Amino acid sequence: MSTVKKVAVIGAGITGVTTAYRLAKKGADVTIFESNSYPAMETSYANGGQLSASNAEVWNSASTVVKGVGWMFSAGAPLLMNPKPSWHKYSWLAEFVAAIPNYEKNTVQTVKWALDAREHLVSMAKEEDVRFDREETGILHFYETKKQFAVAEKVSALLKKGGLERQPVTPEEIRKIEPNLKGDIYGGFFTKSDFTGDIHKFSSGLASACKRCGVEMRMSTSVEKLRTANGKIEIFSRFDDNRGSSSPGLAKEVFDSVVVCAGVHSRNLATMLGDRINIYPVKGYSITVNLEDEDNQNAAPRTSLLDDNAKLVTSRLGPTRFRVAGTAEFNGYSKDIVWKRIEPMLKWCHRHFPGMSTESFISWAGLRPMMPNMLPKVGAGNRPGVFYNTGHGHLGWTLSAATAEIVSELVTSEVVT
Ligand SMILES: Cc1cc2nc3c(=O)[nH]c(=O)nc-3n(C[C@H](O)[C@H](O)[C@H](O)COP(=O)(O)OP(=O)(O)OC[C@H]3O[C@@H](n4cnc5c(N)ncnc54)[C@H](O)[C@@H]3O)c2cc1C
Repeated sequence: MSTVKKVAVIGAGITGVTTAYRLAKKGADVTIFESNSYPAMETSYANGGQLSASNAEVWNSASTVVKGVGWMFSAGAPLLMNPKPSWHKYSWLAEFVAAIPNYEKNTVQTVKWALDAREHLVSMAKEEDVRFDREETGILHFYETKKQFAVAEKVSALLKKGGLERQPVTPEEIRKIEPNLKGDIYGGFFTKSDFTGDIHKFSSGLASACKRCGVEMRMSTSVEKLRTANGKIEIFSRFDDNRGSSSPGLAKEVFDSVVVCAGVHSRNLATMLGDRINIYPVKGYSITVNLEDEDNQNAAPRTSLLDDNAKLVTSRLGPTRFRVAGTAEFNGYSKDIVWKRIEPMLKWCHRHFPGMSTESFISWAGLRPMMPNMLPKVGAGNRPGVFYNTGHGHLGWTLSAATAEIVSELVTSEVVT
């Protein structure tokens, strides 16, 4: 009897490809199921680009709740809540509030994972020669008022408990770190060790490495049903490439284990496996500005930024692209791009980088798979053979390389009966 474990990974976003890669490296026989024709076409497509231990603070705090309620009544606010009743949304919000007492503990845990993830991500990229427009210019958090800066000082003290040093910086130092940044700035925190890169390029590159390691990639194949039976996992999937080729019905395959990495769809799949994983789709937007000539390239920032007041993050993706991302919308699964959410990002660019043209840009919207306590679900489900690496919320790019390591170790060390 073969002792090689047959593992299904559902989803080829950043969590799925990192999990599949680590499983394959540990000797498992891995199959990835992905509804889209290519890897990383959903939330891992055009995010903020930051690999940011410095942004590891969880959002579960009384001040976030107070700010959130205020933002509900302001059109251009960074948070938008559709008040239409939905059990999913309100149960999630109730659990979000219930997790406030764990704010410190969960923030410290997130920092530790983020620091651990750096090493794993860099080593995967090196081993497989994955190029992803990595920029090692650090991440600068900036604040316009003394009050905002004082709040950030407390966050820095908490991040330090998890092992991260953020350096306080004066307006003069900020101008040296990012000379193109304009506006009235009170102060900031600089994290030299944080970095940025293109999540889609990385995920696609690592998916190719997975293939080279023997992972079977079932693209255009949706898992529609899955169940546990006789200690095994039965997966029922449908192939449809949207180009005229499709399977006549559901194909059934049997695996020793499954790892659910299905982003905002993990909740439904978990229900079929007897688990409750209350992920809510928290919508965000990005714009990618094309820096077409030398003047524009020189006027755009090189250092990655986080404007805590506007709740926007930025990253420079190679010489010709600059990305701005943000906003959090609680409004179901729609990925429609709404102009009134894009406009504040353009205005922010004009205000802080007046020399940079935004004549050419690409808009995008994605759904953060967010757990109410802001910690991803990493580990075993209730039934044997069932595992999760999902629910990374606003930090999936930052954390996935660490959580893939944890889950792949758990899967490969579970005894197959
Ligand atoms: C605007 C915005 C900015 C962000 N900025 C940052 C940032 O700067 N830094 C950071 O760390 N994180 C950031 N994030 C968060 C990060 O992008 C996400 O946490 C991460 O991409 C989630 O990856 P995932 O693999 O869980 O989900 P996804 O990338 O969505 O992958 C899930 C995959 O599963 C597939 N799938 C689902 N159901 C099935 C099924 N039944 N059968 C087959 N396939 C299925 C989907 O097609 C999809 O490809 C940002 C997110 C947004 C929206």
